[in-house]
Amino acid sequence: MSTPSLPIPWPENAEIKVYSGGCHCKKVRYEFEHPDIYTMPVINCNCSICEDRGYLNVFTHDNKFKFTAGADEVTTYKFGSNNVHHRFCRVCGTTIGPVVPVKGMVVVNTRTIDDIDLKLLQLRPVDNRTSRGPPSA
Ligand SMILES: [Zn+2]
Repeated sequence: MSTPSLPIPWPENAEIKVYSGGCHCKKVRYEFEHPDIYTMPVINCNCSICEDRGYLNVFTHDNKFKFTAGADEVTTYKFGSNNVHHRFCRVCGTTIGPVVPVKGMVVVNTRTIDDIDLKLLQLRPVDNRTSRGPPSA
């Protein structure tokens, strides 16, 4: 198992768990693979989109993420280079996290994981505010 392409590479020989989660109205449901969420850094970025959407992010490969319900209720917001597709439920607006197709990467907003205890997350502050501005009109 090699994950060097992820912003937070997974530890060698980490036990991989399957997490489930979804949006508030429960139309959109997902599952993804990731090492124990509470043992890994969770990115708390202050760039405009992360802050506005309340992202607390972990990363997985797109072949380790799947929708188990409501994939057709998911819509996306894109801006700038359009490389990052910010996905949210079109019914309730819950932002589950972006997909980055050019990197084969899915970002999961840990807030939407079932039964997540935010107090136990190892938040890693990232200062991207200066390098990414708001979308140009
Ligand atoms: Zn929803």
